[in-house]
Amino acid sequence: MNVLYAIFEADPFIKTGGLGDVGGSLPAAICKEGVDMRVILPKLHTIPEQYRKRMKKVAECTVPLGWRNQYCGVEMLKEKGVTYYFIDNEYYFKRENPYGYGDDGERIAYFSKAVLECLQHIPGFFPDVIHCNDWHTAMIPVFLREHYMELEEYKKIKTVFSVHNLKFQGIYSGYMLGDVLGLHDVKNAADQLKYGDAINFMKGALNYSDRLTTVSPTYAEEICTSWYGEDMEDIFLRRHEVLSGILNGIDVYKHSPGRDKNIVQKYNSTTFKAGKSANKAALQEELGLAVDPDVPLIVLISRLTEQKGLDLITFILEELLAEDVQIAILGVGDKDYEDAFKHFENLMPDKMRACIKFDLGLSARFYAGADMLLMPSRFEPCGLSQMIAMRYGTLPIVRQTGGLKDTVIDCRDGNPEGCGFAFPDFNAHELLFAIKDAAEIYRNDKKRWDALVKYAMKKDFSWKNSAKSYIELYEELI
Ligand code: ADP
Repeated sequence: MNVLYAIFEADPFIKTGGLGDVGGSLPAAICKEGVDMRVILPKLHTIPEQYRKRMKKVAECTVPLGWRNQYCGVEMLKEKGVTYYFIDNEYYFKRENPYGYGDDGERIAYFSKAVLECLQHIPGFFPDVIHCNDWHTAMIPVFLREHYMELEEYKKIKTVFSVHNLKFQGIYSGYMLGDVLGLHDVKNAADQLKYGDAINFMKGALNYSDRLTTVSPTYAEEICTSWYGEDMEDIFLRRHEVLSGILNGIDVYKHSPGRDKNIVQKYNSTTFKAGKSANKAALQEELGLAVDPDVPLIVLISRLTEQKGLDLITFILEELLAEDVQIAILGVGDKDYEDAFKHFENLMPDKMRACIKFDLGLSARFYAGADMLLMPSRFEPCGLSQMIAMRYGTLPIVRQTGGLKDTVIDCRDGNPEGCGFAFPDFNAHELLFAIKDAAEIYRNDKKRWDALVKYAMKKDFSWKNSAKSYIELYEELI
């Protein structure tokens, strides 16, 4: 079975968030199960030179895009057993950043069209299934059905569309329908992309794809409601039969306290006590906080956006800092949150640190050195940070939503599966009580705390199970 995995980010080539983690690890797990999955990405200027110079050109073609005909080179690179194709077009992709340009809609539409157009020119591979991810690839199922059905081999291709983040849908002026997408005279497409006076790329994929998935079972249910559905809930409800939730995994080799070169002492689920205390002391010292094994060190490692429930944290931070705790934030994002965390750092410099930056090495030291990780998200399709934290023996404190609900079982009611602290409502004091309960166990019931840490560290968050579920889905389709 041949599967083409179309995505805009894949670590180590391109990563701005969780999507890059998925793109960089799911395909390898699927290939390990014997499926020929290849990944197709834009050849963005931000891809490190060490990879760019290893790419070899395998095809060249012209991509029709509205009234334009644009160049498309296809370059190939094998990395850790996976074949990657890169769509090369300097006009669209030779920019300082992956996103954030006035013509993003056109760049994204070009990528989707180029993926389809180049298939007939790539030697030695033709997909049975194209698996698309998020709005950047949402036009692929639409273009496939509206522009490529005259080509015999394309008729058999099935499409899967995975929603990682429903917030970004690719909403553009209706003018683009003809000018860029070349679909103004295709009534079916116009109707299904229409979003008020505008057009919506993701809506197109949700209507056109053969199967829809999202990244956790709970989120698959949540998006059928208006609270979480981002205005797409009617489509999810209508297409409920073809919608499934498959939990993301994490790269358990990369996120491993037994191998991590960023941390001062490596450890595993039997040596965690010594390992965590050495890493905690080192982190406290690095952050300029008192080196004290008994005070709970609570961290946040996150994009600083509303989605992550940061309003709950800022609301209770003063009350929390009155307790005997240390808080450290690692994140960049909305200025209001950056400023708020800096403000609290100034207010309580002996208890609070706000590291306003994106730093992978420091994030590893946070995961290894902390006792607890905060993740009180408003919504969370899957979330990776809570799983990484558990791998490092840092217990997550989460709101029960999306993938957080599926991965973090509350330990407070004595559930033997308990591996963290989880509260149901988007309520600041539920968060505060969960933190206080966690701190109480940490200080006064070390035996229970250590048992929880050990259990959390042993949980299986590898991609293996998810890879099998995706393969079952592809098999059903073809
Ligand atoms: P999202 O994709 O919504 O940002 P996830 O929890 O799925 O959230 O993934 C976030 C990833 O980004 C995790 O690997 C996390 O460790 C990492 N991360 C977030 N902020 C930072 C930061 N400031 N520095 C380093 N890594 C970060």
